[in-house]
Amino acid sequence: MVIVSKFGGGILKDGKSFETVAKIICSKKEPIVTVVSAANGVTDSIVDALNSASNGTLDIDFFTDGLAKKHEILIKHIKNSKIKESAISRIHYNVALLNKLLYGVLFLREISPRINDLAMSFGERLSAIVLEAHLLDVGVNAKAFEADKIGILTTARFGKAMPLLKETRANLQKNLVPFLSKGTAVVTGFFGADMDGNVTTLGRGGSDFSSGIIANALDAEMLEIWKDVPGFMSADPSIVPRAKKIDLLSYDEAEELGYFGAKILHPKTIAPVRARNIPIIIKSVLEPSSEGTQISEKRHKMQQVAKSVAVKMNVAMLTIKSAEILEIVQILPFLSKLAEYDIELDAISTSEIGMSLVFDANDLHKVKNALKHFPNAEEVEFEEDVSLIGLIGEGMKSEPGISGRLFKSTGDAGVNVRMISQGASEINISFLIKRNEVNAALNAIHSEFMD
Ligand code: ASP
Ligand code: MG
Repeated sequence: MVIVSKFGGGILKDGKSFETVAKIICSKKEPIVTVVSAANGVTDSIVDALNSASNGTLDIDFFTDGLAKKHEILIKHIKNSKIKESAISRIHYNVALLNKLLYGVLFLREISPRINDLAMSFGERLSAIVLEAHLLDVGVNAKAFEADKIGILTTARFGKAMPLLKETRANLQKNLVPFLSKGTAVVTGFFGADMDGNVTTLGRGGSDFSSGIIANALDAEMLEIWKDVPGFMSADPSIVPRAKKIDLLSYDEAEELGYFGAKILHPKTIAPVRARNIPIIIKSVLEPSSEGTQISEKRHKMQQVAKSVAVKMNVAMLTIKSAEILEIVQILPFLSKLAEYDIELDAISTSEIGMSLVFDANDLHKVKNALKHFPNAEEVEFEEDVSLIGLIGEGMKSEPGISGRLFKSTGDAGVNVRMISQGASEINISFLIKRNEVNAALNAIHSEFMD
């Protein structure tokens, strides 16, 4: 059985970190499929380059030369000159393709979604070459595979593609599995291809999702997600310094925490892994032998009913109120309008005369535009300096009195709760507060449930 190990851009910073990753991979006895993100900062730099190319301000050759240099530096200390030369020539080949794409964008002054996804895929193509070289250099028979070439297939929705799991499974069994008896595969995360062969990306931070898709397709024994932090925490330690690492989570808990923006695991990773009951383990490259956080189907009975208090800092709330003639169901079409505008909601709360919607504050502009198509709302009100707090834990399902304890703790801390939404999953209570009260709220809740 194979293990899928994913290494994110946050830990692929310099030549040394690629060496560390190679060392971890070397220490495994089982066949390994490694999934990599782009090296640190590379995807962001491609996004910026695309934008400045489209408004005519990018010095394209300067950018792509810099990108090639950056990756050459990542393999600077490789000893075997043959390995190094082969990697350098593939780095240059890929950078030259990106260079041509950027000239296309500069010429047209337009980024089509298709070109955007293709350009964004180069960060992972480059980092896979770098890791392959590091592994070969320490004697591991490694080979880099590009997701579009081995048949990780997705829907044609650029920038937000969803996997076609059945097709991907068949392709990987054919194009990847035969190699695994011989060596370690390094697969690019973040993108795949649609049925017509166009490159599609899975959304920012999507390499985790890729690793879940690959684990599913290979019926992996385990999915490891390597980070530079020990695992999921009971709260953000920069706000609650006494926060502790969580040892065990259920899939649902990890998913909820991910949707809350816990930067540990992309929440979309869970579904393909849950479908095959594959355990996930979050581990730190800084302490490879320590336990990390384990995520599985099991709904562990813990001493505490709640395991983590999460916060989505930058959200905004829209409240729509209606006159008597306009009933709440008449507001509902507005929700599909929001979907058309590609706005995702973090929480909803309704009453007979109105509805409150919480969404990412960056989408405020889009929500205001969507609202123009909905003239029959009587009264609308926006709140912008707010944050969404979520208390998450399987233990809350069966335990009475949780809400009472929760809101007593925030009340005692002088925090005013603006809106409440009890998650449909029953393992999450979310509520909205003023942003400047987050610190007080999190500390109070942590004392009540997690200390
Ligand atoms: N490189 C991609 C991004 O920065 C995917 C990932 O890192 O997971 O969004
Ligand atoms: Mg990244």
